[in-house]
Amino acid sequence: MPPVPFLPIPTLEPPPLVRNGGNPDVQQNPRFDCPIQQQSRPWSVAGEVTGVGISPKQVDKSLRGLETPGADPAGADYHQRLKSTPAGWPIRSQWCVWVEPLAAGTPAGPFGAHWQRAVEAALAIWQTELPIQAVATPDQAQVRLWRRKPPLESGPDGPLRASHGRALLQLRQVQRLGQWQLEPQVEVLISPGQRPEAIQATSLHELGHAFGLWGHSDQSGDVMAVSPTAKPVLALSARDRATLRWLLRQPGLSPVVEPAY
Ligand SMILES: [Zn+2]
Repeated sequence: MPPVPFLPIPTLEPPPLVRNGGNPDVQQNPRFDCPIQQQSRPWSVAGEVTGVGISPKQVDKSLRGLETPGADPAGADYHQRLKSTPAGWPIRSQWCVWVEPLAAGTPAGPFGAHWQRAVEAALAIWQTELPIQAVATPDQAQVRLWRRKPPLESGPDGPLRASHGRALLQLRQVQRLGQWQLEPQVEVLISPGQRPEAIQATSLHELGHAFGLWGHSDQSGDVMAVSPTAKPVLALSARDRATLRWLLRQPGLSPVVEPAY
């Protein structure tokens, strides 16, 4: 009887080293501090707390029926489809990101390990474009990635539908090292119940929202395409990079003074 061939568990290839596509302004493996937050409050205007939470679905809704002037389907980017906040573009020069660790006592079985590897591969890809630091505690982070399935939400036509990933933005006033500043705070939910490639594609997409791309591309080859395709998109397209670079040239959130309450 011939030996049964050994079938390895599929694992994700590490992301290729970016030589020409990466942002030349981003040093590889930059180190910077991510101080813990001392206090945090919802952002408010004139004493009133504003509902500034943005979910990508709301952005698409606000864009529906809106012909974006000058939007060329074969255009170099899709920045016309991004949405800002009342306080400015929710961008930063450096991002501190926390990834939910495997719970203590959880066997590091294929599920947990696949999720961790896929999410980290997605972060490594964004790291070629943005200074990103992984941190040990959620209080140090602006972006928090949770290993859980997003709750059902209503689709554009009403019925509840499931998705594998979700990102939700809130603007908060945060005090770190005694200084107050206005920060985008993003919770990202990534479902572990997918193939590793799909987890990586979902993470890439949701992290794109987290890093300021609050909108969707209308082309399927882009990481920020409006709906997932049969073949997961595992790398940033030229349009994704161009859109991000356009975004990074915009003014960020207005600075705030210490809240008076
Ligand atoms: Zn999206």
